[in-house]
Amino acid sequence: MENEFYPKLFSSLDFGFLKLRNRVIMGSMHTGLEEEKDAFERLAEFYGLRAKNGVGLIVTGGVAPNRQGWVSPFSMRLTRESQLAGHRIITESVHREGGAICLQILHAGRYGYHPLSVAPSSIKSPISPYKPWQLSRKGIQTTISDFTRCAGLAQKAGYDGVEIMGSEGYLINEFLAPKTNLRSDEWGGDFSGRMRFPLAIIDAVRKHCGKNFLLIFRLSMLDLVEKGSSWEEVVMLAKALEEHGVNVINTGIGWHEARIPTIASVVPRGAFSWVTERLKPHVKIPLVATNRINSPEIAEKILSDNQADMVSMARPFLADPEFLTKAEFGRSLEINTCIACNQACLDHIFQRKVASCLVNPKACHERYYKAVREVAPKRILVVGAGPAGLAFSVEAASLGHSVTLLEAQDAIGGQFRLAMRVPGKEEFSETLRYYAIMIDKLGIDLRLNTRFVAEGFPYKAYDAMVFAAGVSPRIPDIAGVELPLVIRYDELISGAKTAGRRVLILGAGGIGFDAAIYLTHAGNISNNEFLAEWGIDSELRTSGGLMKASRVAGFRDVTLFQRSNSKPGERLGKTTGWIHRNSLRNKGVKFITGVSYLSVEPGGLRYTRDGQEFFQEADTIVLCTGQISNTRGIEDVCLAGMKVYVIGGSLNPGDIDAKRAIKEGFDLAHALS
Ligand code: SF4
Repeated sequence: MENEFYPKLFSSLDFGFLKLRNRVIMGSMHTGLEEEKDAFERLAEFYGLRAKNGVGLIVTGGVAPNRQGWVSPFSMRLTRESQLAGHRIITESVHREGGAICLQILHAGRYGYHPLSVAPSSIKSPISPYKPWQLSRKGIQTTISDFTRCAGLAQKAGYDGVEIMGSEGYLINEFLAPKTNLRSDEWGGDFSGRMRFPLAIIDAVRKHCGKNFLLIFRLSMLDLVEKGSSWEEVVMLAKALEEHGVNVINTGIGWHEARIPTIASVVPRGAFSWVTERLKPHVKIPLVATNRINSPEIAEKILSDNQADMVSMARPFLADPEFLTKAEFGRSLEINTCIACNQACLDHIFQRKVASCLVNPKACHERYYKAVREVAPKRILVVGAGPAGLAFSVEAASLGHSVTLLEAQDAIGGQFRLAMRVPGKEEFSETLRYYAIMIDKLGIDLRLNTRFVAEGFPYKAYDAMVFAAGVSPRIPDIAGVELPLVIRYDELISGAKTAGRRVLILGAGGIGFDAAIYLTHAGNISNNEFLAEWGIDSELRTSGGLMKASRVAGFRDVTLFQRSNSKPGERLGKTTGWIHRNSLRNKGVKFITGVSYLSVEPGGLRYTRDGQEFFQEADTIVLCTGQISNTRGIEDVCLAGMKVYVIGGSLNPGDIDAKRAIKEGFDLAHALS
């Protein structure tokens, strides 16, 4: 029966030998669970929960077909029969829940972070310190056999198929692009030579596994690097893949070394579905759209506009494993939306930690949090409806506690309300929508415009108090800081005060960057503006899809100052910091490090650097010089003998961010249950 809310999304797809219950692929993502001691059990739980909530087809994180293909030493690989038992735990878990699952075979090629890495030609990548060995002709044949063996083992382990990773700049992609394939033998040269390798793999896998085995190829439709594939080559390969028996083509956008954002929050939703759409007239097999699809609405639109036959989402299933259950039954407002911050998923992977999710700390750690169950309900008062207080309240209420939530402002959100006003961070408003819905649904007693006053408070009405009153801006001890040209970051970003044309920002941490972006960028840019700003060729006329970026200087003259000599924004996330630095530089923002502030004077800032004194003229000086905890009233509560728990910025303002705040709220809710 047709789904009344998202009919395309929830329509089945029948391959004859395999019927998928809907058009949703949970795209391949490395979670870090693969390297854990109990990897198979935890992956089985992780995938099983997503299958239980309706994901049609899951693609695992990349599994190497041999040692040379490791992304990093001892990455997961499937090379022996003895490894099948572990994989069967995964496939059985997904099949038990009515889902289907494919193993992604990923050979890292020159991106391999180890000395055994191989590539079509011995050219070092900019993102690995190791120069790869050039594959010999015999080595190529062995690698094809390794892919085939891996696919055969996957079939034996119960996988419904495999996805051959041919994009993002990994080995197969390296064979395809003239940038990385300088060979003059039959595996290089013109495109028919360069595409010989993926086609040979497809032929061998199909022959070995038979026709009743799903074969997905992840095709790099837009390399976003110089000397990448041309669009004509992409079409030629897609047609050849179809002829050689591939069942589904998934979209790959951008090599990992590309300096263009493809999945971060600055990328508009569904920003690349037009690329998949361009391929539609050329093949008959299903095509999958990817990248920045994070709501059932955008997914449904891509399908109903016939841009693709399926949609792939990965991070949205970290943020909310029940995404599809909620969508299917018309409860999409309850979806905890992925805000594309990368802070707890990709950034964790780069730090070699197990992935999680900023808005859902349970992700990949489900077994360490109790499910909703009977608890001895407590009456808990929460002070502050910022990220920490909200996360605690919603989780505690869902665990069965009775929660009263006080907020001094007229709306929930705290620092989130500032964040969502920063261009490129508009997705934060989705998190607040989620919390507002859950507050209502869980019956949390929310009292806005209510400041906590310790004196005369009815302590006996509560069993415990959670203090999550957040932070206030720190005012530095600089002469003249009280002059009218000085404003605080919260005054700027909330719109309470406006800045002039020449602006100095004191402090180049995360908030300083937010202030600079707020001052120089427009919010909610169109897709075409995004493509033009980052030099993406929307006509697909250039190889790799690159063209000259159209960079419009910002209206304001902005300079970011910091006292330390370290790289500005050093503590920003590994996967997003470079985007913010580049985009600010492109707007003409200047960075000055290693300064000591002397005084603010009418018309500017006096400071020293390298022993020299300078005066820089300014119309406005914005203070982003740290934060102090809001703790007023805690002592009185303690004196009254009440049990108080302090979380978020109230506990430690030093390194507070949304990730830490939400996790502390979440963890405390479970600790009290
Ligand atoms: Fe999405 Fe951020 Fe969660 Fe990653 S950490 S899944 S990007 S919300």
